Amino acid sequence: MQQEIRAILAKIGENPDREGLLDTPKRVEKSLEHILGGYKINPQELLEKAVFSENIDEMIIVKDIEIYSMCEHHLLPFFGKCHIGYIPRGKIYGVSKLARVADAFARRLQVQERLTQQIAETIMKPINADGVGVIIEAKHMCMMMRGVEKQDSVMTTSAMLGSFRSDSKTREEFLNLVLKK
Ligand SMILES: [Zn+2]
Repeated sequence: MQQEIRAILAKIGENPDREGLLDTPKRVEKSLEHILGGYKINPQELLEKAVFSENIDEMIIVKDIEIYSMCEHHLLPFFGKCHIGYIPRGKIYGVSKLARVADAFARRLQVQERLTQQIAETIMKPINADGVGVIIEAKHMCMMMRGVEKQDSVMTTSAMLGSFRSDSKTREEFLNLVLKK
């Protein structure tokens, strides 16, 4: 990858041989491997390893999970908060695993809409949850630094599955708990 990054530096009019840029290709490669490291993680498998039997059928919510992702259209970051809720049916997840699933999907080339849906569907399956809701609020560097240059706009996406979709009361409870500041 370092060869290609060096070529990009030259293409934008830089001198890849000047002191400050000498190690840049190596650093960028390392940083991309981390930022896009989600491809090496299987989120479904990760969740399946953290299922616990518990006699609970009330809504469980994890709020304000920080996410950092990369817009697949511009290769620029988008970042913000992810909120996850689910209603179990006798099986729950280890709480940190929900954040790790969000992370595993975020650290890929994404559009926010798909990211939201993927997280929800992955959480639904292993425990056959009664319902799952995921909301992401994020700012997109491709809107802030280029194009329309809107610095304060936040994009909100949601994915509602099972009872979160079919039961308006459940959905409302989730939205109230998550979006109230
Ligand atoms: Zn973009």
